[in-house]
Amino acid sequence: MANVSTITYRIKEHARRLGFDSVGIARAGELTAEARALEAWLAQGRHGTMHYMERNFDKRIDPTKLVEGARSVISLSYNYYTEKKQTDPSAPQIAMYALGQDYHDIVRARLNELMQYIREIAGDVQGRSFVDSAPVLERAWAQRAGVGWVGKNTNLLTKRQGSYFFLAECIIDLELEYDSPVKDYCGTCTRCIDACPTEAIYEPYRVDGSKCISYFTIELKESMIPEAYSGKFANWMYGCDICQQVCPINSQATPHHTPEFTPSEELLTMTTAEWKALTEERYKKLFKHSAVKRSKYLGLMRNISFLK
Ligand code: SF4
Ligand code: SF4
Repeated sequence: MANVSTITYRIKEHARRLGFDSVGIARAGELTAEARALEAWLAQGRHGTMHYMERNFDKRIDPTKLVEGARSVISLSYNYYTEKKQTDPSAPQIAMYALGQDYHDIVRARLNELMQYIREIAGDVQGRSFVDSAPVLERAWAQRAGVGWVGKNTNLLTKRQGSYFFLAECIIDLELEYDSPVKDYCGTCTRCIDACPTEAIYEPYRVDGSKCISYFTIELKESMIPEAYSGKFANWMYGCDICQQVCPINSQATPHHTPEFTPSEELLTMTTAEWKALTEERYKKLFKHSAVKRSKYLGLMRNISFLK
């Protein structure tokens, strides 16, 4: 069998061949500082009604509780940036990541291929892969693995690509060569904090999940959005990209190469009137393979009617 250095190199090379833009590797172990921060954040109720975040705390802070004998966390980024936009900027908006087909399916398929490749070159490797699908502190691992830094808006940023990408991980019981964290390039910039319309970024590097437009439009399952936020959503009906749009690092972003992420012309050209009159039948057709299904039809209509 090849040595650790060669295996590490070949895994990274293959990940890039599969379409991942950045790949870094960190030694698996407990995320002690992040665990304390998460504990405090949960105790302050910053997760709102996302009670699932309270569960599996042990697994969240320690990948060896998710994968027995875990030695390495391979952290990967997958670009979703597109220059295609909804043609009517005053129409209800969908966050860029959700304009195309559901990323879970697309990235999962590539992760499976990467795991298979690792077993081909390194033998009987045990592990699991994740894309926003398990209690993994993805951004903390991406930072440790040197993929990028966590910005003041809490997104993972890379100097080369900005923040318009998904994160994914392979947690495996194989020893590899490890990367070092990169520098934080946010500097004195506060654009994301200043631009957030709901003041959800309550201090640099901390977002109150329960005040974020993404939370209200996707996670909140109640029939009403609190009236106190009326008029503060700009025109976001599913997610929010404001703190990414204003981020100067995102001027580096280049378009993805994944045809499945290309939004349909129908979706891009819908007017405000069409969104308001959206039937369940058209909703099902428009979002058949989309992450937007997460909000359900009634949730999306609630969001649309909340916009001024
Ligand atoms: S996604 Fe929108 S609401 Fe949430 S922190 Fe960023 S700017 Fe604020
Ligand atoms: S807008 Fe400025 S402070 Fe915020 S994440 Fe980007 S670089 Fe960092």
